[in-house]
Amino acid sequence: MALKAEYIWVDGSTPTRTLRSKTKVIYDEVKSISDYPEWTFDGSSTGQADGEFSDCILRPVFATNDPLRGGNARLVLCEVFNADGTPHATNSRAPLRAVAERHKALEPWFGIEQEYTMFQNGRPLGWPENGYPAPQGPFYCGVGADEVFGREAVEAHLDACLSANLTLSGINAEVMPGQWEFQVGPLGALEVSDQLLLARYLLYRVGELYDIAMTLDPKPVRGDWNGAGAHTNFSTNTMRAPGGIKAILDAMPKLQARHDLHIANYGEGIERRLTGKHETCSYREFRFGVGHRGASIRIPLNVEQAGRGYLEDRRPCANMDPYIVTRLILESVCG
Ligand code: ADP
Ligand code: MN
Ligand code: MN
Ligand code: MN
Repeated sequence: MALKAEYIWVDGSTPTRTLRSKTKVIYDEVKSISDYPEWTFDGSSTGQADGEFSDCILRPVFATNDPLRGGNARLVLCEVFNADGTPHATNSRAPLRAVAERHKALEPWFGIEQEYTMFQNGRPLGWPENGYPAPQGPFYCGVGADEVFGREAVEAHLDACLSANLTLSGINAEVMPGQWEFQVGPLGALEVSDQLLLARYLLYRVGELYDIAMTLDPKPVRGDWNGAGAHTNFSTNTMRAPGGIKAILDAMPKLQARHDLHIANYGEGIERRLTGKHETCSYREFRFGVGHRGASIRIPLNVEQAGRGYLEDRRPCANMDPYIVTRLILESVCG
């Protein structure tokens, strides 16, 4: 039977690149990722080429079953290449491949907490037509129709991710009503990033079914409302081994030394989100601390108590590019 393969890639939109996809019906048998044919698309419509030489190349790198279409259907994540075979300027996965390879002896793991906000009729889901909901407080990990909004879509997304064999580690309702989180990992840098992009893709697709616009805006509502981040948890085999807290603390000055570079690459709108309020540290400062949710880097309490584990980089925004964030952390901490 013919296979419906959804080719998914990252475009050239500014200031934040977004996902694009189109369907290829494949009649030949496909057994492994290398059996998926390369394909082309019109880069002049995605911010990736001008009109004259507009063909860009899609090269499949990761595939899994498509739980929403069901049957003989696959999600096929692709890297984008130029006609001459070099990686496209928007292809942030290509540089990560080399960096991940260089540091593989350290067995780096990443766990990413993807926050997002549901919108309907131009406002966050569950918000009144005029004015604002009750102040933040009861919504985080809330339960009950007056405190959580959109749970049905959240559950459908979790089921879809698990059916697609994506390694989610949990979900929770967030501090701002209409805001939610799912976590991917822990996995290697390429794996967590590939899976995060497919989980985002499934989030948008589930949103279509419920007429909800899923957004990764890092500060969807101005004022006294939490922003949306993508906390990135990181460890090496040394950090996870007994006494690993020393390696975790050793990472702090290295991360501090490249703070500005990280901030500049952690998602558009980071200045709107990292204000120093709402469980953030100002983007102008670098601070770390145990169990400190107002820090740039948090060492979880259980990690300090165990003397080993991982660190949490709280700076990345919800709209960050995981290939860039994981590469910068690897280069800063391990490089
Ligand atoms: P928080 O308390 O910050 O909300 P979460 O439970 O939402 O934490 O997310 C923690 C993340 O850390 C999960 O994605 C989990 O997979 C990941 N994680 C757990 N252990 C490690 C580790 N040793 N290295 C990297 N990531 C890890
Ligand atoms: Mn979390
Ligand atoms: Mn969160
Ligand atoms: Mn967190």
